Amino acid sequence: QKALVWLRRDLRLYDNAALHYALKEGGQVWLTFIFDTDILKPLLKGELDANGLKHDRRVDFIWQGLKQIDDELRKQGGGLIVRYGQPTQCIPEIAKELDVNTVFTNHDYEPSAIERDETVRVQLEKQGIRFETFKDQVIFEKKEILTNSNTVFSIFTPYKNNWLKTLQEKDLSDYECNPKPGQLAGIPKKLSAPFPSLESMGFCPTGIESYLPPGSEGGQAFLEDFLHRIDQYQVGRDFPAIKGVSYLSTHLRFGMLSIRGLVREAHRRMLAGSMGATIWLSELIWRDFYFMILANHPRLAKGASFKPDYDNIAWESGATAKKLFAAWCEGKTGYPLVDAAMHQLNQSGYMHNRLRMVVASFLTKDLGIDWRWGEAYFAEHLNDFELSSNNGGWQWASSSGCDAQPYFRIFNPITQSEKFDPEGKFIKRYLPQLEKLSKKSIHAPWKAGHIELEAAGISLGRDYPLPVVDHDEARKKTLVRYSVVKKIT
Ligand code: FAD
Repeated sequence: QKALVWLRRDLRLYDNAALHYALKEGGQVWLTFIFDTDILKPLLKGELDANGLKHDRRVDFIWQGLKQIDDELRKQGGGLIVRYGQPTQCIPEIAKELDVNTVFTNHDYEPSAIERDETVRVQLEKQGIRFETFKDQVIFEKKEILTNSNTVFSIFTPYKNNWLKTLQEKDLSDYECNPKPGQLAGIPKKLSAPFPSLESMGFCPTGIESYLPPGSEGGQAFLEDFLHRIDQYQVGRDFPAIKGVSYLSTHLRFGMLSIRGLVREAHRRMLAGSMGATIWLSELIWRDFYFMILANHPRLAKGASFKPDYDNIAWESGATAKKLFAAWCEGKTGYPLVDAAMHQLNQSGYMHNRLRMVVASFLTKDLGIDWRWGEAYFAEHLNDFELSSNNGGWQWASSSGCDAQPYFRIFNPITQSEKFDPEGKFIKRYLPQLEKLSKKSIHAPWKAGHIELEAAGISLGRDYPLPVVDHDEARKKTLVRYSVVKKIT
């Protein structure tokens, strides 16, 4: 028996379903990763550095994670076969070269990935090679959690209750990934092209490892740190200035950590009475929920609103909207919490969940701009960008989603700021020019008196923008804009 394991969003050598089943067959096993040109080439557009290279934290993060895997495999006599090309060509080629019987991989739920995998399957089967795929990224997939009438859920709470009721120990147990001596085969000469450098693919090192250590090693370290704090998760999770959340989303996104391990930790603590772990587990269930929603409603990947009526909304799209959108992207709206959040995203590739909700609401309901513009900006900049959760989050904020907030619920960016960053600590971290404003004025600097502004050394319009819209007016406009939905529903 000879097997090839194709890694994609499961960049780890422990508790990996595809690797487990490949090793279980007992024969020789190789592992491969393809840097997909169909995904990477479109990323090369836009600003390049002085050497003509693109700064993309995610490509760097993946690259470093793969290096860890390669090092680990080499210690065991193997090595990772890394290619830069189209998987639909590379996988059948590598499989043929190695003369394997089976290619093993884990399910991917995005419509374009499903199509890609089908093409690979057909190619492999033509060569007489089996293509075996497994559930690995989620606890329950597509149609595993259904309503009493066997339909798919679209409301989270009953889905969650059913999810928890269905959960059994076996759903959370680790897959064994222990190769027998010599089972991980060395890379044959013909396939041993060097590990492609970031530069050879058009990307530069980004320094992401200085704050987000990559790979399973980095993920485990972050997890251990979080487990000391998990019992207080419910207290701190909404406050971006404090270390209240896990910061594990990027490791999860690329499968550097196993979802089963995380759910097991949270579930065990929940049964022991930890409120923090209970709420955190609920967040992990939201992740499964959005994967399930996308898998059952692939039209969402094409930009459709979950509730079709919401596609009748007339968004602002002229020159003014474009200017306002640029101000939002650059963190220059004049609303400090929104701006600080956008700076956090632009500088680190991360944005706190509370802030994702605030900026998404601001874009759609204060600026009247289509949520798809924001979704695309997040997709380009988030380290943890993940189609199903990103789409779910944006449609939640714009009210067009499956279990979204009602359209008339409009976040007030000032009160959100007062509530969730009361001292303005988070704002000051990203907008140091506001450092000297009092905690009362920092949420809406234009409301501060001349004396305070002068003492703080701030001239509005020069050091910090005046607000680009008036929230109360914007709110009224939004209610009118959304009335088209009210009429239909
Ligand atoms: P924690 O609070 O520690 O949560 C633990 C894990 O639970 C997260 O890593 C994530 O996997 C999952 N999770 C938490 N909240 C959600 C949620 N609302 N929906 C789905 N899963 C959740 N999450 C992404 O992983 N990728 C995205 O592209 C993404 N885009 C978003 C866009 C918008 C507009 C909004 C409102 C939310 C988005 N989220 C996205 C969900 C959430 O903001 C992030 O998962 C979270 O902020 C990541 O930080 P953390 O790991 O510290 O989270």
